[in-house]
Amino acid sequence: QRPSTPSEDGGHVKVVVRVRKFIKRELDKQSPCIIEMNPSTNETTLHPPVQASEDAKSTKRAYEERKFTFDKSFWSHREQDAHYAQQHDVYASFGEEFLDHNFDGYHTCIFAYGQTGSGKSYTMMGTLDQPGLIPRTCRGLFERVEAEQNSSITYNVHVSYFEIYNEHVKDLLTPRTTPPTYLKIRESRSDGVYVQNLTDEPVKCYEDIERLMKMGDMNRTTASTKMNDTSSRSHAVFTLTLKQIQHDIATDSTIERLARMRLVDLAGSERANRTEATGQRLREGGNINQSLTTLGRVIAALADPKRQRAMRMTGQQNQSKRRADVVPFRDSVLTWLLKDSLGGNSKTAMVACISPTDYEETLSTLRYADQAK
Ligand code: ADP
Repeated sequence: QRPSTPSEDGGHVKVVVRVRKFIKRELDKQSPCIIEMNPSTNETTLHPPVQASEDAKSTKRAYEERKFTFDKSFWSHREQDAHYAQQHDVYASFGEEFLDHNFDGYHTCIFAYGQTGSGKSYTMMGTLDQPGLIPRTCRGLFERVEAEQNSSITYNVHVSYFEIYNEHVKDLLTPRTTPPTYLKIRESRSDGVYVQNLTDEPVKCYEDIERLMKMGDMNRTTASTKMNDTSSRSHAVFTLTLKQIQHDIATDSTIERLARMRLVDLAGSERANRTEATGQRLREGGNINQSLTTLGRVIAALADPKRQRAMRMTGQQNQSKRRADVVPFRDSVLTWLLKDSLGGNSKTAMVACISPTDYEETLSTLRYADQAK
């Protein structure tokens, strides 16, 4: 019997926002910071850019001050500020809690959303000196497994790492091929939705995972765009699978618990026209927008307690009601593959990553994050 979870009351999507510090392009242009965060209220204020009144005249766009409140706001802009949030602060805010959840047998999912260059990879993977959520979660997992070494539970941990590029799935733990090898998505009664032939590597310690993370990151698809030299046009899905096998000597039986942790670095959310894309790049843009829109709709549906209740009310519903309550998992490869980590008794978090200088992209990211609450 599974214990009850916060998700049963709905509202199980945790949404946090993180502003990154200036990068060289912004320093060179002496762009002003248009983000303000109040660490005690977790309110984020987006100020109109200085040139807004001129732009507004020519484009008739309204640049207004906008305020949003999320579960947490991480000020990672000026290191000297007292409320500067480091990598471990971001992990501490839900990493430990999500691991508790995994050890209780539930799936979890953490997304980083935002335009290219807003700090998604920094937040998820980080650097050698400043490791992000993925390496910290892996370390936390093995610390717990090691602490439980003498218990009656055996732990099996597996790692997979794939990317979704143009609605195709590519294994990041196998060498790249030309032409690229795309994996098929299958569905079965016993395993649900899965990627056929995906590498799912058993790991015994953190160092095993570190090697796989490096290999996967080298294999990630990158293409240059006008906004960023090596911007990522793909969603990267890092998955840890934890299997706990408990042997009960008294009854000579075993109980298995399986939990999946999905840590997802989403493709850049900027609109395709913004980067002056054409041809192949424009197609990528269309697919990226489609899957991010679907993800937004799925998360919004899951965050809605009424919808949650409706989803559990199978059997009692009539056909038309059931159709109206359908969560659109199937509308993109990303949501279809993550279905079991998103719905039902799983826990989801989204880190909305924002730049301190870009009004329009930041507003669009904050709006997206707002609908997921
Ligand atoms: P994205 O993955 O969204 O394209 P990156 O994570 O690559 O963006 O971030 C862009 C740049 O900003 C990188 O050089 C990264 O190291 C830096 N950066 C992002 N967030 C932070 C932060 N919180 N503190 C320091 N540097 C950051």
